[in-house]
Amino acid sequence: MSILPVLTRLIAIRCALAVCLAVGLASSPPAAADQVPVVRTAHVDEAGQGARLHFELNAPVQAVAFVMAGPNRVIVDLPEVNFRLPPRTGQGEAPVKGKKAPPARIVASFRFGLFAPGKSRVVIDLGRPALVQKVTTLTTADGSSALLIELKETDAAGFAIAARAAASDALARDLMADAPAQLAARGADGQRPMIVIDPGHGGIDTGALGKRNVIEKDVVFEFSREFKSSLEKTGRYRVTMTRNSDVFVPLAARVKIARDAGADLFISIHADTISDTTGVSGATVYTVSDKASDNQAAKLAEKENLADAAAGLEGVDDSGDVSDILFDLTRRETRTYSHAFARMLVSHWGAAGQLNKNPHRSAGFRVLKAPDVPSVLLELGYLSNEKDSAALMKSEWRTQAANAMVRAVDAFFQPRPGG
Ligand SMILES: [Zn+2]
Repeated sequence: MSILPVLTRLIAIRCALAVCLAVGLASSPPAAADQVPVVRTAHVDEAGQGARLHFELNAPVQAVAFVMAGPNRVIVDLPEVNFRLPPRTGQGEAPVKGKKAPPARIVASFRFGLFAPGKSRVVIDLGRPALVQKVTTLTTADGSSALLIELKETDAAGFAIAARAAASDALARDLMADAPAQLAARGADGQRPMIVIDPGHGGIDTGALGKRNVIEKDVVFEFSREFKSSLEKTGRYRVTMTRNSDVFVPLAARVKIARDAGADLFISIHADTISDTTGVSGATVYTVSDKASDNQAAKLAEKENLADAAAGLEGVDDSGDVSDILFDLTRRETRTYSHAFARMLVSHWGAAGQLNKNPHRSAGFRVLKAPDVPSVLLELGYLSNEKDSAALMKSEWRTQAANAMVRAVDAFFQPRPGG
């Protein structure tokens, strides 16, 4: 196998990683290297349960916003900008002596400035717990630009969950930043990231049979369709499925579909059973590894790898004997990305549904072996568990879980500002 297509794909992956959320960026002239964008005005609009922080700039910038607890804040990271704003901007209203304090606002105050070389930061102090709803960059015809950070009020529990997920995403992003291929990520090919969803099994291969006569190939297909439509609704992704009906697709063909589609992320959906105990439950995210993380993961990979045999196909050993150093490097970087996405999926899933006690494991899954496509296999739950089986059949559960997955995908493709 030639390494060239692999490298080209890698560059494409990193490019796609850098583009989402920036609206109007492509149409704007790049700022000269010696002058950073200038922030000319800043103001907050607040009404009811929503608040919007509005910056006006002379050039568009990409920003990333996330919440942080203790005290409750929203952090907005952006590339280096020059805040040319009047003193006391963002400091909120000082209490007036003898006057009753007004009810707490969502945005109590905000600070801004250089955070690190090439990186600026805005810190919003929250008077009431709120989540980041949207970050938008707009460009007007006269070349000026706006950055909008929209917040929506939530309760304390909702804020705590979001803050935990944000902290975990940050750790996972650090992992990706360590992968050398990140260096190739600076361009932008203008394409939305391609997500390939792989509903496990199909046709003659039914997969696991669970409680309440639940059949794996059917529940994973239903869920995959829901997930696909949730991803498409965002307008931020292109989505392909490895099967669109109840049909058998060999494991190697699933990998090929992903690579041919130019996948930036591959997610295989399954639902397991376990014979020795019915007490085991919750979702588990698997990544590929040469050595299984534990016995159960090894057994599961063995079982899932038999999908071809279930349909009467000869098992092909595709472990390959590629000893090219570049190929090895590519594969290592891809695994780092897969690992980072698995962590994000675990943290966002935990906010919506039940996780297995040991939610991130690894083993030699054949369907996860594309050397250049970050890939994970999600076991939605255990069909041998009464509660899991019942949940998987409910459409509300599917919607909630699919939304959690979209948030994990968003975290994975979030641009890294200032980089
Ligand atoms: Zn399966």
